[in-house]
This record gives sequence, C-alpha cells and structure tokens, in this order.
Amino acid sequence: MLETVAKGFKAARNKLKGRTEITPEVVDDALRDIRVSLLEADVAFDVVKRFVARVREKAVGEVVETKVETKKGLVKVTPQDHFIKICHDELEALMGPVDTSLKVNGRGATGVMMVGLQGSGKTTTAGKLANRFLKDGKKPLLVAADIYRPAAVDQLKVLGQQLDVPVFHQAGLAPPELCRRAMEEAARTKRDVVIYDTAGRLAVDEPLMQELEDIKKTVAPDNILLVCDAMIGQDAVRTAAEFDRRLALDGFILTKLDGDARGGAALSIKEVTGKPIKFLGMGETLDRLEEFRPDGLASRILG
Ligand code: GDP
Repeated sequence: MLETVAKGFKAARNKLKGRTEITPEVVDDALRDIRVSLLEADVAFDVVKRFVARVREKAVGEVVETKVETKKGLVKVTPQDHFIKICHDELEALMGPVDTSLKVNGRGATGVMMVGLQGSGKTTTAGKLANRFLKDGKKPLLVAADIYRPAAVDQLKVLGQQLDVPVFHQAGLAPPELCRRAMEEAARTKRDVVIYDTAGRLAVDEPLMQELEDIKKTVAPDNILLVCDAMIGQDAVRTAAEFDRRLALDGFILTKLDGDARGGAALSIKEVTGKPIKFLGMGETLDRLEEFRPDGLASRILG
C-alpha cells in the first residue's frame, strides 16, 4: 500500500542528500517528485496542491543544518531530516486530527448505520464492527436492511452465526420500517448496539439517497459511517463528499487497504469533507479492522 507515494518521498529525500544548505530551487525540485507521486496515488488534485504549498512554505529558509542536544550528545540534524519532519507533520495534519470514537446513546441502544456503494465491503465491515463491540463486552444486534440483494441478507446471517450475534430481518418490509422494528427488537432483547447494514448501489443515485435519508429520520442513528473501497481512488473521495452532503456523516471506514490500493483516498477524504476516517479494513476476515492512525500512515509513507 502507498508504495507510489513512498517512492516519491524517497526520490525527494535523495535530492537533498549531502546538502548543508537548501535553496528554494532544490526544495521545488524535491517537491516535484512528491507532487507526481501523490497524483499517481490518486490523491485529489487540490489536496496535493495545498500539501505541496504548505511544505514549501515551511521548508524554504528553515531547512538548514543544525545541531541539537540529545542524550547521546550533540547530534547533527541535516536539511534532509528537517524536510522529512516537515513532510511527516503535514501528512499527519492532512489526515488528522484523529477521532476513532463512536457516539454512545445514553438512553437506549447505540445505533450505527452503515452506508456505502455495493461491493465497498459494507456487509463485511458491519460484521467486523459487531466483532469489535463484542470484544468491548457489548451485545450487538445486526440488522439486514439490504432487501434488494437476498445474498446480502444471507451473507450477514452467516457472519452473525460466526460471531454468535443475532441478525434481525423481516421479509416484505420497506427498509425504514424494518429498521424501526429492529430498534424495538433491540430494546426487547436488551441488545446495546444496533448495526444497520443498508443497501448499496453501483453508483450514488436518488432512490438510494432517499431511502437512506428515510432510515436516518426513522431510527435517528447515533453514528452514520460510510464504507469506502480504497481501490476506487478518486471516486471514493467524490462518493464520500456526496454521501456526506446528503446524510451528514460521522465518519468513514476505508476498506481493502491490504490490497494493492493506491491509498490516495486516505490522504484526501479528511481534507475534502472535514470528517474523520475512523477505521481501516485490512483484510476479508472479521478481525481485520484497525483504528485509523494518521501518524502510523505518515510513517509508513515516509519509510
Ligand atoms: P457490500 O456489497 O458493500 O456489502 O460488500 P461486501 O461486504 O460483500 O464485500 C465485498 C467484497 O470485498 C467481499 O469479497 C469481501 O470479502 C471483500 N472485502 C471487504 N472488506 C475487505 C478488506 O478490508 N480487505 C479485503 N481484501 N477485502 C475486503
């Protein structure tokens, strides 16, 4: 993951190697490699432009050789080190501040509504979240509200069986009513988290958005999370912005970051929508859900 970006930063670092002083021209030359690699990794154009401008502003003039006092004595800090530190901080700023918390309902069961395009990994991620809640000692209820794809209902039931978590579904109901009954079921059976797996479509369309708005109005979930496939790059950012506009999302879950996804979406989503990435999907099995850590991702990119 993110190899393209890492390569760009490495090339930039090499351009600064051995220099004791760095001119604006050298900074620009190094930033050119970074800009190209970020665009290749599908980071949104505006985001790249702003990132490069911020690093340039901080690097020019500041990136000089200094010495700092450490436990090991006086240590030389090269312009290259300075430059990488600035890049690290700016990458972190781009993706942060981190907020992986989910809102908890103080009065009844906490509602988590999962939304996303078909194939994004929504159903799998609903199972992963249920697993996470179980580990925290909670009693989740999974709700199969994707009534258009019978396989989705079966898929959720299989995941529920694996986890020993009940799955609520009633055939013949419209999704908002189905979700309302699921809430009642949760109250009756004393479940403390309700995870709604809603229908996805191949693209953002009006009936899908209307249905999701209706579910939101009916059950007033505490958290609405968009599941985004990192493999679809720039499209993930556009989808994120559109879902956020209609549903006022609480955050994102980026899936399939274990594959050869270029990962640029991870760098753009926060900057474009202002909403946090909460979790990363790192594999197909139910334990492969990680909390999002911008510092970890920045370190991985910078090597
Ligand atoms: P939905 O249509 O959005 O509900 O998507 P699914 O949950 O059915 O997932 C679509 C495919 O993506 C399935 O084959 C999943 O196993 C796979 N998938 C989901 N999340 C991940 C992930 O984090 N990594 C990988 N490698 N595959 C994933």
